[in-house]
Amino acid sequence: MTIADALVREIRSITGPEACLDTPEDLRCYSYDLFTRGLPELVVLPRTTEEVARVLKLANEAGIPVTPRGAGSSLTGGPIPIRGGISLCLARMNRILEISPRDRLARVQPGVVTHDFHRAVAKMGLFYPPDPASSYFCTLGGNVATNAGGPSGVKYGVTRDYLLGLTLAVPSGDVLVTGGRSYKNVTGYDFTHFICGSEGMLGALTEITVKILPKPEAVRTLLALYSDVGPATEGVAQIMGNAIIPATLEFMDRNFLETVDQLFGFGFPKEVGAALLIEVDGPEVLVGPQAAAILDLCTKGGALTIQAAESPEEREKLWKARRAGTAALVREAKYVASLDFCVPVSAISQAVREIQEIGRRYDMKVVVIGHAGDGNLHPMFFYDPDDPRQAETYAVLEAELVRSILKLSGTLSGEHGIGLEKAQYLSLEKAPFELQLSRRVKMAFDPNLIMNPGKCEWATKTDRELP
Ligand SMILES: Cc1cc2nc3c(=O)[nH]c(=O)nc-3n(C[C@H](O)[C@H](O)[C@H](O)COP(=O)(O)OP(=O)(O)OC[C@H]3O[C@@H](n4cnc5c(N)ncnc54)[C@H](O)[C@@H]3O)c2cc1C
Repeated sequence: MTIADALVREIRSITGPEACLDTPEDLRCYSYDLFTRGLPELVVLPRTTEEVARVLKLANEAGIPVTPRGAGSSLTGGPIPIRGGISLCLARMNRILEISPRDRLARVQPGVVTHDFHRAVAKMGLFYPPDPASSYFCTLGGNVATNAGGPSGVKYGVTRDYLLGLTLAVPSGDVLVTGGRSYKNVTGYDFTHFICGSEGMLGALTEITVKILPKPEAVRTLLALYSDVGPATEGVAQIMGNAIIPATLEFMDRNFLETVDQLFGFGFPKEVGAALLIEVDGPEVLVGPQAAAILDLCTKGGALTIQAAESPEEREKLWKARRAGTAALVREAKYVASLDFCVPVSAISQAVREIQEIGRRYDMKVVVIGHAGDGNLHPMFFYDPDDPRQAETYAVLEAELVRSILKLSGTLSGEHGIGLEKAQYLSLEKAPFELQLSRRVKMAFDPNLIMNPGKCEWATKTDRELP
């Protein structure tokens, strides 16, 4: 696909020339996420909903692919323009439009970085819980498009649970405004929650209205170290079977801890094979006893040691390790396949066992971390995709693992989305009727299939080709 010069000129006249990039260097900067590559032909950085709608209309009329992009922190190839065309980057639409403590809501543009939003609401004593581990760089638009979760999901839920309304520009040039400012709204179809998680395949988000909560008064953080995966994953099930819902319950295996230890110098004992990072939050009078009860459960469950963060700095250090660990691991290998399964909590032990066993059987290094409190596991496999033998081994391994996870009543993706990486497995999890219905919905928004083409199966195959 080549974009005609006249069309580029027209787009430039809408956005201004500085917001329309086509030098090879600029195109390269918008050609990647954490693992995947694919060059756009034009990068457009609009500043208003109107600009987005006008650009989409022109692209639609010319049949040019458009791939929305936030910060490009996806782990699935979601923002990669694999069919060329326009990379529509919403990162410059980064204003917080309103924070209303009385209505307990905020309105933001999609390019606001999630951590900036956390800080802005925290200054007013408020709290926006969804906290992907990438929060320091990902955007709220990307979070809505992927229905991002994060460590706090176990108690507070995911991005979808905080949405009140959205503005979505669609290929026809129309602008769909869904939901609104009221906390309850059952008027018509619930497009707000439907669009969340649609991975840029229906349109481009240009405004988001979210619920915000009062900031919890206090928080306690514990790091429980175990000799092996078994007692740690059993600990997850025990904590979740208890009356206290932790604010976070993160699992980390030995390989992850070793990397983090090298970076941050925690000095973990050699015999440590797994860890749980656990937080409780709420009123000061409650969090002490809750932390003590969880500490007791971990001790009885065989934890080697349990460390409590004594200060905000210590807490920050533990979290920095958890957040930076993934990026640190990525430096170690040519390629890391990062998966995102979710299973019922009672199946966590078995899921981790199967992941590690499959890694051993295929002789491939695997690291497992996860937001274990809600059953979300992120196995990461290290290999060289340019080595045909390793690439083939990984492909067989991955397909076997997907089947094992589905047998445990699990799902392909808990929070990262499908993107490119998991599209080929959709029909293992979804029935033919659901895939076909998904395609018809996609066609209603995007009849010429210009939005983020090549991603989910229903967006790449016709009804007849779908199973
Ligand atoms: C170290 C690391 C840790 C991570 N931890 C987590 C985690 O804990 N939880 C989690 O859920 N994810 C996590 N992720 C994945 C990723 O950060 C999230 O998916 C995030 O929501 C993507 O936001 P983004 O702004 O980078 O979007 P991008 O990566 O740019 O895009 C992601 C998808 O959203 C679409 N999109 C982006 N903006 C818009 C828009 N305005 N309108 C329509 N579609 C749009 C894109 O087309 C694409 O399909 C992690 C990633 C990294 C690198």
